[in-house]
Amino acid sequence: MDKTPVIFWFRRDLRLVDHPALEAAAERGPVLPLFIDDAVLREPSGANRLHFLSASLRSLDRSMGGRLVVRSGDPVRVLEELAGEIEASSVVATADFGPYGRRRDERVERELDSDHFSVSFLDSPYAVPPGTITTKTDTPYKVFTPFFRAWTERGRPQPSPAPEVEWVTGPATEGIPEAPEVTADLPPAGEDAAAERLDWFLGGPVHDYHECRNDPGIDGTSRLSPYLKWGTLHPRQILARLGRSSGEDVFRSEIAWREFYADVLFHRPDSARHAFVDTLAAIEYDEGPVADERFERWCRGETGYPIVDAGMRQLVAQGWMHNRVRMIVASFLVKDLHLDWTRGARWFMQHLVDGDLASNNHGWQWVAGTGTDAAPYFRVFNPTTQSAKFDGSGAYLRRWVPEIAHLSDARIHEPARDETGPPAGYPEPIVDHAAERNEALARYERAKGHR
Ligand SMILES: Cc1cc2nc3c(=O)[nH]c(=O)nc-3n(C[C@H](O)[C@H](O)[C@H](O)COP(=O)(O)OP(=O)(O)OC[C@H]3O[C@@H](n4cnc5c(N)ncnc54)[C@H](O)[C@@H]3O)c2cc1C
Repeated sequence: MDKTPVIFWFRRDLRLVDHPALEAAAERGPVLPLFIDDAVLREPSGANRLHFLSASLRSLDRSMGGRLVVRSGDPVRVLEELAGEIEASSVVATADFGPYGRRRDERVERELDSDHFSVSFLDSPYAVPPGTITTKTDTPYKVFTPFFRAWTERGRPQPSPAPEVEWVTGPATEGIPEAPEVTADLPPAGEDAAAERLDWFLGGPVHDYHECRNDPGIDGTSRLSPYLKWGTLHPRQILARLGRSSGEDVFRSEIAWREFYADVLFHRPDSARHAFVDTLAAIEYDEGPVADERFERWCRGETGYPIVDAGMRQLVAQGWMHNRVRMIVASFLVKDLHLDWTRGARWFMQHLVDGDLASNNHGWQWVAGTGTDAAPYFRVFNPTTQSAKFDGSGAYLRRWVPEIAHLSDARIHEPARDETGPPAGYPEPIVDHAAERNEALARYERAKGHR
C-alpha cells in the first residue's frame, strides 16, 4: 500500500460499517478523517439537527480513537490547506445528490482535481444512487409505484463490515462544534444507537408495521429517520435484513419513498423551493396579519383542532412528528389556513431532527397537490375524522394536549362540541373546517382555470 495519506471527508455518512467510500480510501493509503463545518449548511439547520449532528460526530470520533479532524470554512480552501499540511495525494468522500452538495462537489473537483491530487466521490447515501433509474424512454420517474418496481428490480450490494483503516494522526483540529442548547428530547446519536434501534425494530414492531404505522399513539414506526439523515445507518443495512412478511414489505416501500424523493430532487433541484408541477402555480395563498397570526397559532399548536395541535407540540418537544400527523398538519396549513406550503416546510426544517430537503419539501408538495404522484387537488384531510380514525383511543391526543385529556374517547377529537363546552385553557377552532375545505376547492378550481 502506498504510504501517501488520503483525506476522507465525512459528510452525511457518519459511520464506519458498510462504508464503500471509506473502504476505497483505506485501500489507497493511510486515512485522515475530516469533517468540514460549512456555514452554508450550518445556517439553515435548526438547533435540533445541529445538536444531533454534533453528538453523531462525537460518537464517530470515539469510534476512530479520537482522530477526527474538524475544520471550518469553505470546503475548497480547507481541503487545499489540509492536503498541503499532510502532503495528501487525494480526497475521497461519499457522493452527495442534493442541490447544494452537488454544486459544492463540482467546485471541489474543478478547483482541486489535478495530475497531483485526485478527488473521488463514491457510493451514495441511498440504496440506489439518485439519477440512475430511468423509464424505458430514459426519462426520470414522476410516479412512485413504477419507480418502486424498477428500484426493486435493480438489486443492491450486501452491506460490508467496517474496513481496516490505518488512520493518520497529527494535524490540528478545531474540535467538534459545540452542540447548541436544545429543549427537545432528542434520540441518542451515533452508529451504535442506530444499530440498536434497528435491532429493536426488526426484532418485533416491523411485523405489525403494515397495521400500526398509521397509529401515532403507539411506537409503531422505526424512528430511524435521523440516523438515515446523517448516515449513521445506511439503507442497505436495513434492506439486507428485511424478509417478506407484510410488515417488512410495507416498510421496504417506505424506505423507497426516501429514495424516490431524492431521485426527483436530483432531476429537478428547483423543486426544493418551487412547485414540481405548474398546474397549481397560480393558487392564491393568504398573506398579511391574519395569515401571520394563524401561522403562529399553527406553529404553537393552538388551532383548536386537537390532532393538529398534538402534532405541532410533538414537533417542538421531540424534533420529530409521526408521519400520519405530518400529513394532517400540512394539509391543515395549506387547505384550512390557505398558507403557502413553503412556510410550513421551513418551520419543519427548523425543528425536525430528521429534516431532509428532499423528503420534507416533497412531502409538503404531495400534500399541497403541487408535487409528484398525481396527488389530487381535492384530497383535503378532515382533521377530526383523521384523528378519530387513526388515534381512536385518543392516546396521542392525551399525551400532547393535556388540556383535553379528561374527555371521553368519543369527545376528545372534537372538544368544541363537548356538551360542557370547550375545556378551560383550550382554544376554540380557529377556522371552520367545512367552510375552509370549500374555500380551498374553489381556489384550486380558479388556479386550474388560470392555466
Ligand atoms: C409534510 C411532510 C414532511 C416530511 N419531512 C421529512 C423530513 O424532513 N425528513 C424525513 O426523513 N422524512 C420526512 N417525511 C417523511 C416521513 O414522515 C418520515 O420519514 C417518517 O415519519 C420518519 O419516521 P420513521 O423513521 O419512524 O419512519 P418509518 O415509518 O419507520 O419509515 C422508515 C423510513 O422510511 C423513510 N420514509 C418513510 N416515509 C417516508 C415518506 N413519506 N417520504 C420519504 N421517506 C419516508 C424514512 O427514511 C423513514 O425513516 C415527511 C413527510 C411529510 C408528510
